[in-house]
Amino acid sequence: MPKQRIGLYPGTFDPMTLGHTDIIERATKLVDRLVIGVAINRDKGPLFDLEERVEMVREELSDNGSQLNNCEIDVQPFDNLLMHCAEQHNASVIIRGLRAVSDFEYEFQMVGMNLRLNSDIETVFLMANDKYQFIASRLVKEIARLGGDISAFVSPSVAQRLFGKYGLPAGGA
Ligand code: ADP
Repeated sequence: MPKQRIGLYPGTFDPMTLGHTDIIERATKLVDRLVIGVAINRDKGPLFDLEERVEMVREELSDNGSQLNNCEIDVQPFDNLLMHCAEQHNASVIIRGLRAVSDFEYEFQMVGMNLRLNSDIETVFLMANDKYQFIASRLVKEIARLGGDISAFVSPSVAQRLFGKYGLPAGGA
């Protein structure tokens, strides 16, 4: 049997946006199995706790079952070092999304450091469709908190969860 190529797509997903979904769809064309690693990320002080974020990502992908483009998808929380998480799942590729210039500096440093931890694991960067490239979870939260229209950035069920967190009606203020 040919070797399975396993990818790890790590993120905070606080909340999951249409940008994340787009990157996941693209990643499934590159690997046989995609592990979506939902990071606990205490430092970022997430709005949704880890269990809620794992549930949200699973729910967003549930239309596809656990398969998309012949790729098996598995959503898992992680609380350890990214490279350890990749090794634990036998991933040979880490998938990251890249937005305009804002992500570059941080990602550049991460790849440099990660390659020193394990030089066998490559990081691959994907760009979302231009409709989604500017979406950032942080800004979506800010707009939702103020009751704005977030329907172009997240799915209806994520929007509902977000407005719920801020005590607003399902469609915003
Ligand atoms: P954020 O950076 O918005 O807090 P995450 O930490 O959940 O989101 O991001 C996980 C990965 O998804 C990162 O590689 C990030 O660059 C990528 N990503 C997030 N939003 C987008 C987007 N709109 N387009 C492309 N990549 C994205």
